[in-house]
Amino acid sequence: MKSWVPHSTDSDFSIHHLPFGIFKTATRNVRVGVAIGEHILDMKLLAREGFLKDWDYPQNVFSQPFLNGLMALGRTASAALRRELQSLLSSENPALRDSALRDELLVPMKSAELLLPVNVRDYTDFYSSIEHATNVGTMFRGPENALMPNWKHLPVGYHGRASSIIVSGTDIHRPKGQKTPAEGASQPGFGPTNLLDIELEMAFITCKPNALGASISTEAAEDHIWGMVLFNDWSARDIQKWEYVPLGPFLGKSFASSISAWVTPMEALEPFRCAGPEQDPEVLPYLTYSGQKNYDIDLEVWLETPSGVKQKIAHSNFKYMYWNMVQQLAHHTVNGCNINVGDMYGSGTISGPTPDSYGSLLELTWRGSKPIQLTDGTERKFLQDGDTIVLKGYCKTPAVRLGFGEVRTTILPAI
Ligand code: CA
Repeated sequence: MKSWVPHSTDSDFSIHHLPFGIFKTATRNVRVGVAIGEHILDMKLLAREGFLKDWDYPQNVFSQPFLNGLMALGRTASAALRRELQSLLSSENPALRDSALRDELLVPMKSAELLLPVNVRDYTDFYSSIEHATNVGTMFRGPENALMPNWKHLPVGYHGRASSIIVSGTDIHRPKGQKTPAEGASQPGFGPTNLLDIELEMAFITCKPNALGASISTEAAEDHIWGMVLFNDWSARDIQKWEYVPLGPFLGKSFASSISAWVTPMEALEPFRCAGPEQDPEVLPYLTYSGQKNYDIDLEVWLETPSGVKQKIAHSNFKYMYWNMVQQLAHHTVNGCNINVGDMYGSGTISGPTPDSYGSLLELTWRGSKPIQLTDGTERKFLQDGDTIVLKGYCKTPAVRLGFGEVRTTILPAI
């Protein structure tokens, strides 16, 4: 399949992708768009001008400030919309290609502002990469007790903070907080974090609620999952270390989590399904599943510094996840917890098997004991003010490539 919209073969936004986002320009108010090559297809205008012949749902979902309305129509609606958009953008189809409105419908991406695509009501973060959990457990408890006794029996998670989920391009200030008291001190330390870290994650977004008290089976879970984004779960390790006992992460995490601007619909990821790692011991019946539930998505972490360094510091893959998304959702709801349209679920840090595939600076530098050497001769244990972190993700087969764009965030000094 080829598109009449010109784009290079290594574009993140090929006709095979068609991710959804929210944008505005100097002359257009906030609305839904679809990325294609270097352009955004204006969905509000496309619907108003009558190009969506097969769309049997409300048109106003395309003029809303978030994708929640569109997502709430469910997987069947989004799959049908995707088919129609692929047809309209295909080089075979003259309907849009030869239309007088074509230039007005395609907005150059560089002239648009990309906004937070989802109104996130609830955010849950899992801890589902066995390599990450093993690395962190080894550092803090030693290799004998790296995984807690529950880890291979349930996807460990916690409830995160939805209000501080921010879109790519939003800078953050170095957070402040309490830290472990210095030796002999009567009070804890306080001030800007010295151990600012990233967590390389992906997140999925739900489109279909369940009733309070009802559970979602692994078999039904995919019907509730609409799409995915890249996710950087910022972490202040010194604040986290002092506060987390006994209830887990709080202010060391809640200051910000950054997501990519384009939401990739699950339909686009079909060619990239793969088997997950074998789960041993056997899981409880409600966590069993059939079929391929992992996805082969290459992930990269780039560090850019004020001195001009642009360096890839990690390369991982979403396929390493021990617990997959349908298991996470089945576990999340097994107690009858209700989920909502627009809820976001972080995978947990995605580390791979080799030291260059670790998804956090904590692991990459092994608690700061092995600093990362940068190309300008300096080094990093944790992030400095002015540093920019860019997450990237892409999938490819010989015939199809799609990318998740990027999550770009710069660290500003503490306020
Ligand atoms: Ca996390």
